[in-house]
Amino acid sequence: MTPEERRLVGIAWQLDRLRWVPSSVLDEIVRRDGLCFWAYCDGEPPGLVGVDTPDRELASRFCAGCPVPDECLELELRTAGEETVGVWGAMPDEDRRALYPHWLRRGERAGGPRR
Ligand code: SF4
Repeated sequence: MTPEERRLVGIAWQLDRLRWVPSSVLDEIVRRDGLCFWAYCDGEPPGLVGVDTPDRELASRFCAGCPVPDECLELELRTAGEETVGVWGAMPDEDRRALYPHWLRRGERAGGPRR
């Protein structure tokens, strides 16, 4: 296993604590407490979607200080899966797509994972 694969497996493992939290609850938490949702007071999702491919540094800067990155990441993996784009959960989309199969292998989640 490469160091990068080990990193992704570790992140997938870390998300297991949210396994049985319903997606509707995750959505409520992220919308209520997510840093980017405070910054955009209209309650709309952030705009870092579909322009240029975000990199790790941008994702890290964008989400720095957010109290709910794990909830955000878990929700995005459940709802968008491999089609995820932009910055969510302090990760760029390329990293989330690489994470997705490792996350799927962790097993069942509340509501079932997207396939
Ligand atoms: S982790 Fe990033 S994208 Fe997700 S709610 Fe927090 S600031 Fe927004």
